[in-house]
Order: sequence, then structure tokens, then C-alpha cells
Amino acid sequence: MRIAVKVGTSTLTYGTGRINIRHVESLCKVLSDVKNAGHEIILVSSGAIALGVGKMNLPSRPEDMPTKQAMAAVGQCELMYIYDKLFSEYHHTTAQILLTGDDLRDEKRHQNFINTMRRLLEFGVIPVINENDTVATEEAAVGDNDTLSALVAVSTGAELLVILSDIEGLYTADPRRDRNAELVDEVRELTPEILALGGGKGTAFGTGGMATKLTAAGICMEAGTDMIIASGDRPENLYDAADGKRVGTRFIGRKS
Ligand code: GLU
Repeated sequence: MRIAVKVGTSTLTYGTGRINIRHVESLCKVLSDVKNAGHEIILVSSGAIALGVGKMNLPSRPEDMPTKQAMAAVGQCELMYIYDKLFSEYHHTTAQILLTGDDLRDEKRHQNFINTMRRLLEFGVIPVINENDTVATEEAAVGDNDTLSALVAVSTGAELLVILSDIEGLYTADPRRDRNAELVDEVRELTPEILALGGGKGTAFGTGGMATKLTAAGICMEAGTDMIIASGDRPENLYDAADGKRVGTRFIGRKS
């Protein structure tokens, strides 16, 4: 099975911008093992800006575009250094691919991306993808890595996208505020009720980024790709996801 995995900044780093070694080591170990079991892995990783901020010892995440882009340039090196080092320990090779929304919208560049991905996977490489933040202005960007990971999964014909997040999955209410909130195991259709669970920007749901995850789910389901939201605190969740076992929330791709 070809599996795309998206991992977010909150899983990879602490609030300080420093790397969460426990999470990242365990993520690379599990991904290597899932690959050893015979699956193809595509990793979509955030964390560049946060790692840049940590490395440059900035007091907080910058608001202005040039500083953000500069931090992304610093942090992307750090990110790839860590992945290269950890995957090497398990004898796997990584490759960096940085994309903007324009690359995916332009037919020729999109096709080039697909060709390169195909060849990398034939070589047994683990491609690590991020938005090319240093050049992606608002109009040119995809804008968030949940959506980017769905576009990547669909373009490359992945059977499954697993989004590792700071939440176990989609809940019927905000689990940080409502003790009666229940995890939704499976979603077969993005009904208005389900979409409403995504919340708006600025709500507690918004901090978990559920709205962009539902956008990603829509892209995947439409293309017939399954998508799972699971907790990045336990990268071992990927074993269950790869084995088709119940974990987090599974959005079922439309089967035509
Ligand atoms: N591309 C950004 C970064 O690597 C993250 C974007 C996102 O998390 O959606 O820092």
C-alpha cells in the first residue's frame, strides 16, 4: 500500500520551537518499520518555521512575511537534517520536495512532480514534502499542509492519507471543553453536520486545525482515497492505520 503521512508542527516541536525528540524519533522508527513491512511511504512534514524560530532563538513566531520566510529557510534545513539522520539509522533514504500551490495548479509542473515522485518511490526513497514557504506568497501557496498532504496523496495515487495531529480524531464537540465529546470513528459523507464540527477560525476547534483537515478529507474522499486523523503523540497509531485497524477517525474514500 502507498501511504501518505502528514505530521504537524505541534507533533514535531514543543512550544519553544525546539524539536520534540521523543515524537520525531518514534515517528521515524515507525515509518521505517511500516516501510520495511512492504508499504511505500510519502511524508508531508510541517515544522520548518517553528524549528527556524527555535534555532534563531526568536522570542515568538514572527508575524511578518519576510521573517517567516527566512525562518522557514533556516528551519527546513534543520528539519531535513533530522529526518536524514534518523531515517539513515534504519537504512532508509530521504528526499526533499518543496512545493507551492502554483506547482500543483500548473499542468506541466504538476506532471513533473508526479514523475519525480514515481521515480523516487521506485528507488525506495521516502520523499519528505513541505510547502516551499520561502517563495510561497499567499496567492501562490496551498496555504496549509493538511490540504497540501491531500493534494499530494491524490496526485501520487496513495491509497491512504494519515494526518497525525494533536487530537485523536474528529469529535462530536470540543474534547478540551466538553466531557461528553465523543470520537467519531468513521465518516462516509461530509454532511453539513460533520462540516460544522470543523469549527471556524479562532474557535477551540480552529486551534486543532480541524477545518483544514475536513477540507483535506473532502479532497481525498472525492478521489477515492481513505484519510485518517490520528494522534501524533503515539506514532505507533500508524501500525493500526496500515493494518486497516480502527484508529482515530477514518474518512472513507468514495468507491465508484
Ligand atoms: N509549511 C509550514 C512549516 O513547515 C507549516 C504549514 C502548516 O502547518 O500547515 O512550518
